[in-house]
Amino acid sequence: MMMNYPLTLAQILEHARHIHGSKRVTTLLPDQTFHSYNYTALCERVKRLANAIMQLRVIQPGDRVGTYASNTYQHLELYYAVPCIGAVLHPLNVRLTAVQLARIVQEAEDKVIFVDDAFTKQFDKLREKIECKQIVHFHTSSAHPGIAYEQLLSEADSVYSWDIPDENRAMGLCYTSGTQGEPRGVLYTHRSMFLHTLAVNQADVFGLTEADVVMPLVPMFHAMAWGLPYASMFAGADMVLPGANPVCIADLIAETGATVAAGVPTIWARVYPELSKRRQDISTLRRLIVGGEAMPPTLIEAYEKNLGVEICHAWGMTEMSPTGTFSKLRGAHQNLSDAEKWRIKAKQGRPIPGVELRLATETSNGFTKLPWNGEVVGELQVRSPWTASRYYNIEPTTEHFTADGWLRTGDIATVDVDGYMQIVDRAKALIRSGGESISSVALEASLLKHPSVLEVAVIGVPDEKWGERPIAVVTLSQRIHEDISDTLGQHLAVEFPKFWIPDQFVIVDEIPKTSVGKSDKQALRKQLLMSETKEKLS
Ligand code: AMP
Repeated sequence: MMMNYPLTLAQILEHARHIHGSKRVTTLLPDQTFHSYNYTALCERVKRLANAIMQLRVIQPGDRVGTYASNTYQHLELYYAVPCIGAVLHPLNVRLTAVQLARIVQEAEDKVIFVDDAFTKQFDKLREKIECKQIVHFHTSSAHPGIAYEQLLSEADSVYSWDIPDENRAMGLCYTSGTQGEPRGVLYTHRSMFLHTLAVNQADVFGLTEADVVMPLVPMFHAMAWGLPYASMFAGADMVLPGANPVCIADLIAETGATVAAGVPTIWARVYPELSKRRQDISTLRRLIVGGEAMPPTLIEAYEKNLGVEICHAWGMTEMSPTGTFSKLRGAHQNLSDAEKWRIKAKQGRPIPGVELRLATETSNGFTKLPWNGEVVGELQVRSPWTASRYYNIEPTTEHFTADGWLRTGDIATVDVDGYMQIVDRAKALIRSGGESISSVALEASLLKHPSVLEVAVIGVPDEKWGERPIAVVTLSQRIHEDISDTLGQHLAVEFPKFWIPDQFVIVDEIPKTSVGKSDKQALRKQLLMSETKEKLS
């Protein structure tokens, strides 16, 4: 006999406005000055934006609205206005090439795209390739005339009554790189994002409070910025948005008093020296939420021991909105040595409340559950109210979803008796570099189109700065004496972003094969590591 109260993002926005109206959102602008306003002002602009989008007269319920933007207050306004009018927010990954993005925009059929000043030039390349006619620029200029964001808002009414009749209505669409090289869309609902917000806001998960100042360095185009735009405002925390190019993260923390920041390990490795020089100035920083790839234990130790900043390692996927596990110590761990504590924290963590996890192995009659003893390695499968049950516009296949309703994550892991999961390998053909995925299959398919290439295997090798980097191992169709690395790199650059281009092209006579005739990537990795070690020794 309970109310059937719809779980929608409009509730989050209205709660923030009523209860936390004076809390602030601060954005670092390109000239390194700040834009700052409170939640009351933000909510008023969200309502104007809602009216403005409707007045464009191209958006019907369920239509996709693209964003090509960095972490700014305008992007945050779109995070609320688009879903709350019943449309679907589709943040585009600005790191992908125009060719890759054009395919995505075509499939998503974005009706309007909002473009950040920081990316107007690079957006021109995409614009030539897509049919979307309504482009709104955060700022227009003579080189980029068109619809101007501020003008739209100034002409729109600030009264809007949210009316989302069904919590199962779609609110957002994010694309993930596919193992087969084709990106796949994940469509979130109001209900799934609302429940994800409640889950991550628990004390033993992100644990955000009204007293926090939250700084998402994770881009707002990556897996809904890990849900932080919703979690922070529901908690009533202040937010700091770093724009496209924060020159100095330590300055940003010092000037805004950030208490919690979130981003991939590559960022934290890069800024560690900067932060350690400014220990006094960054004393407000209490916690880093780190995910996207594994945080090296030495870096966890450096932050906790030398800077007194708590590291919380999280694991998830675009398919999971994205949070699945979170690594915090249990009460029972308090008496362990520091070294032992950091060993546990380096694991990807325990399933957050609401997420079910299982380790499985495939047998002739489906999947068998494996024990949680910290040693047995198996395929990681998950289910939760915020996990995708299929991809956008693609019929579910057994490659991604099991017959009994679990998502196959493509990660290979162990789980210990306390429920701490640790990723040990990846079954999917993805390389994780700086927290972003690179599809080895897509690179291989493209290299095979080059006339000089006979066979190719792209593998990920460990890299201190980026976590992993791709290396292409190639056999040639004819004997070539000169170095063709540049030629192959240029061939790939037509289709893929710079960070996808392999660091090395290793020419070999033969690529080792597994028993079923596939490239034996494990053997290749070993061979490469051995020759590297030999080189270092000689
Ligand atoms: P994405 O959908 O781009 O967020 O990528 C999800 C994938 O990133 C996961 O399936 C993992 O392979 C990897 N990943 C995410 N978080 C972590 C982490 N904390 N440690 C290791 N790998 C991670």
